[in-house]
Amino acid sequence: MPSKIYLTTTLPYVNADPHLGFALEVVEADILARYYHLLGHEVFFNTGTDEHGAKIYQAAIAAGKKLQAYVDEYASRFQKLKTVLDLSYDHFSRTTDQKHIATAQEFWRRCQTAGDIYKKNYRVKYCVGCELEKTESELTNGRCSLHPNKEVEIRKEENYFFRFSKYQSQLLKLYEERPDFVIPASRLHEIKTFVTVGLQDFSISRLTAKMPWGISIPDDPTHTMYVWFDALVNYISAIGWPNDLKNFEEWWPPARHLGGGIQFAGKDNLRQQTAMWPAMLMSANLPPPKQIMIHGFITSDGQKMSKSLGNVIDPIKLVEEYGTDAVRYFLARHVQPFEDTDVTLEKFKEAYNANLANGLGNLVSRVMKLASDYLFAPVAMSRTVLATGKDGPLVSSHLERYEFNQAIDVIWQKIGELDAIIQRDEPYKTVKTDLAKGREQIVALVHNLAEIANWLIPFMPATSVTITDLIRQNRAPTQPLFPRKI
Ligand SMILES: [Zn+2]
Repeated sequence: MPSKIYLTTTLPYVNADPHLGFALEVVEADILARYYHLLGHEVFFNTGTDEHGAKIYQAAIAAGKKLQAYVDEYASRFQKLKTVLDLSYDHFSRTTDQKHIATAQEFWRRCQTAGDIYKKNYRVKYCVGCELEKTESELTNGRCSLHPNKEVEIRKEENYFFRFSKYQSQLLKLYEERPDFVIPASRLHEIKTFVTVGLQDFSISRLTAKMPWGISIPDDPTHTMYVWFDALVNYISAIGWPNDLKNFEEWWPPARHLGGGIQFAGKDNLRQQTAMWPAMLMSANLPPPKQIMIHGFITSDGQKMSKSLGNVIDPIKLVEEYGTDAVRYFLARHVQPFEDTDVTLEKFKEAYNANLANGLGNLVSRVMKLASDYLFAPVAMSRTVLATGKDGPLVSSHLERYEFNQAIDVIWQKIGELDAIIQRDEPYKTVKTDLAKGREQIVALVHNLAEIANWLIPFMPATSVTITDLIRQNRAPTQPLFPRKI
C-alpha cells in the first residue's frame, strides 16, 4: 500500500568542505528515497546545512569573513552536491532561513509553556568541535576524544536550561516499546545505557555578548539559542510545522506508535538525535521520529581523516575522476553501513576496476554487442520493479534494513551469474551454428540485463538509464561505461 515516507539527513556544519562521511550519509538516504519512490510511495527527502554556533562563529572570524557571507559560500558548496552526487532531495534546509528561525523560536515557546525551560548559573566544560557539554568521564587527558586538537572551553555564565532529566523515564519507555527506534540494535543499547545512568539538564542558550551568531531567544535578545536546539528543529520546519499542520501531520503522523520521519545520522550524533531530540519533541507535545539510522565513520589508513594528517578524501574530486555513479556504488557497496570503514584511494580504484570497468561495464558491452550484431529489433522491456523477479525481494529486504552493501551485493551476484552463463553457453559461437538458438540465448541475456538496470535505479540512477537506453535502441556502447583506470 503506497504511503508517505519522510527521510532526512543531519545538517552538516558549514565550517569545512563536504567530507566523505557526509557524502555517505546523504547517498544512503538518497538510495532509500529513490527505492521507496520506485515502489510507488510518496517520498519527501530533506537535507541542508547547520549554519549557527560557536564553531562557525570562530571559523568565520579566523577566516576574516563576514558571518552571513561565510555561511552563504559554504552552503553553496553543499548545495552543489545535488548535481555532483545526483541527489533527489526535495528540500534543502538552511538554519539561517527566516522560516527556520521563526520555527525554532516557536518551538522554544512550546517547551517554555511546558515548563521545561529555566535559568541557572553554571560552570561547564564545553567542546566546540562537538558543540556539546562534556562531563569529566567523557574527557581523555582533559580533552574531547573526538577533537584532541581542540581546547575544552570552560563556560561560566547564567544560561537557559532544558529540563532533559524530566524525560528519562519517557525516553526509556520509548526505547522499550520500539526496539527498532534506533538502528542498529547496538546503538539503541548504547543510548539506553546513557539515559539509564541519568540525564543532566543541558544549557540551551549563550550570552549574546559572547556568542552572537545564532537565533535570538524569544523575548530575551541578551541570549542566543544553543545551536543544537535550533538545528534539530529543521526536521519538522522542513515539512511545515507549525504553520501548515495538515502537511506536517501527513509526513509526521501524530499516532505515537507511528511517529515521524526516518533520520540518518553518524555515530557521533547518537545522543543528540536519539535522546535530546525525542525529549525536545516530547516537551513540545509532538511525536518522536519513526526511526533513526546511525552509521559509522569513514577512516583512512586506520585514522580519522583530517587536513593536518593529509589523508582527506574529497568526494567532489573523487567524482571528477571516477564519475558520480562510481562514487555512489562505492559508498553503497564497500562501506559497512553500521561500522567504521577504512577507505583509501587504492581501495577505491581496485573496486572500480574490478566491479565497474570489468564486472558491470564489461557485461553491458558484451551483451549489447551480441544483441546489436544478431538481433533484428530491440528486446521488449517489461518494467520490472525491484520487488519482483527472483532476487528482487532479497534486494528489498536488505534495503529496508539499511543493509545497502548486502542489497547491492545481490545485483553483483547476478552480474557474476550472467558472466558465467556467457562463458558456459558461448552464444557468440552458437549464432554461427544455430542462429535461432543463439538469438534465444542473447534475448535471455538482454532480459536479465534489463532486470539489473532496474535494480540499479536507486543506487546508480544515471547508469541505469544508460543501460536501459542501449537496450531500447539495441546498440552497444560506443565507449566503455566505466573506462579502466591505471
Ligand atoms: Zn568534541
